[in-house]
Amino acid sequence: MEDVARECGFNVIAGISAVARHSIMPQYATNRPDKLDEEQLSNFVECILNRKNHKTSVLPGNRPYKKKMPGGMIPKPTKDCIQCGICAKECPVSAIYCENYKADSKTCISCMRCIKKCPKNARKVNQVLVSIGAMVIKKTCEVRKENELFLLSNE
Ligand code: SF4
Ligand code: SF4
Repeated sequence: MEDVARECGFNVIAGISAVARHSIMPQYATNRPDKLDEEQLSNFVECILNRKNHKTSVLPGNRPYKKKMPGGMIPKPTKDCIQCGICAKECPVSAIYCENYKADSKTCISCMRCIKKCPKNARKVNQVLVSIGAMVIKKTCEVRKENELFLLSNE
């Protein structure tokens, strides 16, 4: 996000890591952001405007960028698909082919927006993969995570 913002000409002064419900496994961080999050994020805005809080020289992130893992969770249309095209229109990275409504595995970022937007509940990811993934992240994700604010000291 920082790199994209800078490429677009923004002067980046801070970053926020904000918790939201897991897009593929909604049993984690269910109902987030909640009231507490709202209060904390408002407080972050105050801190950014007033430049007050612990400062850091770099925003956290992976540089070089992490390689995309093969075999990610890519939604597919099921037999209930009525070929309305909404998923293709709503995909943020234009990964869905209009001929068959399958997603290009190289372009898909597994955000699950197409599943949310499908009016017929006709898009699914491999449920075996989802179950395995849920077990792998259970220990890390079943405890409440806090939002984090990072203020850049050199901006
Ligand atoms: S939104 Fe659902 S019903 Fe419409 S084309 Fe996509 S998968 Fe099919
Ligand atoms: S999961 Fe996200 S990126 Fe992948 S096809 Fe659906 S909307 Fe597009």
